[in-house]
Amino acid sequence: MTKSINRNGCREDYFLLTCWIWCTGKDDPQLVSSDFAFCSLGSCSQHGNSYLVRTPEACIMVDYGVRLRRTERALQQAGIHPSDIDAIFITHEHTDHIQGLRIKYPLHVRHGIRRIYATPRTLKRLGYPTPSPPFYPLSPGCAVEIGDVAVTGLRKPHDAVQPVAYRLRAGRKTLAVVTDLGEMTPGLTSSLRGSTHLIFESNHDVQMEKSSGRPPSVIRRVLGERGHLSNNQAAEALSRLATKRTEEIMLAHLSIECNQPKLALKKVGDRLAQAGYSGQITAADPSGFSGWVSSANRNIRPSVGL
Ligand SMILES: [Zn+2]
Ligand SMILES: [Zn+2]
Repeated sequence: MTKSINRNGCREDYFLLTCWIWCTGKDDPQLVSSDFAFCSLGSCSQHGNSYLVRTPEACIMVDYGVRLRRTERALQQAGIHPSDIDAIFITHEHTDHIQGLRIKYPLHVRHGIRRIYATPRTLKRLGYPTPSPPFYPLSPGCAVEIGDVAVTGLRKPHDAVQPVAYRLRAGRKTLAVVTDLGEMTPGLTSSLRGSTHLIFESNHDVQMEKSSGRPPSVIRRVLGERGHLSNNQAAEALSRLATKRTEEIMLAHLSIECNQPKLALKKVGDRLAQAGYSGQITAADPSGFSGWVSSANRNIRPSVGL
């Protein structure tokens, strides 16, 4: 184990995971053709949220919210064996981000995934006030290295105890994973501007949400400053985050009842075109494997594209 103080001054322990045994990926043409790829395994409140990032030295899952069988099926479609996953990072304690954890023999126990990170207060809320392996605390603003990827948790406004977005840096690529966000903040904008890849929430259409027939308290929560981003809010936020370095944007956590992929893609696409963005935009399949998005082969199998 290496003891270190990262550049943000946060003291933490971390393993340098340099031993790379990439059983399923070794002969995978997707990996040969790309040094960086990501996909969604599920992306909505009903079916849960989970995203996968792979580089030559790491395979990282962000969020643990998809049920076991659905996760295993999506991983199989992605060509990843669960034991290939080096670490799981949890954004917050809401069920659609952690329900994979809440069973007797969860994925990490079955397949020997040895590192699960979340913020200290999130771990406490999940029942791990003094975490021991495989659970590790990662405070907002602090970074941990998993193989060739540096992962940083970034504070975000949402109605959870200590929610974070994640920024994953691998060489010259940066992936931002930002869902469950009440509103965009100056801190997030400056931390994530110029990301090469973004998985970004475009949760609802405001009119569809207001006329959804849901209880008023639920509508107030979704539309509130600690709820979820609308298509318009996502479009505005992404117009500030995307630069000429940005290659791919995957819209995520779309509400099945109060949004439509084509509507979200049009709203965000129009605003980004206005801002001069010329990269790709897709919307994640809410219920399963989205197809890999790769820095070398754009949108190998996109779910829904413009
Ligand atoms: Zn959620
Ligand atoms: Zn949430």
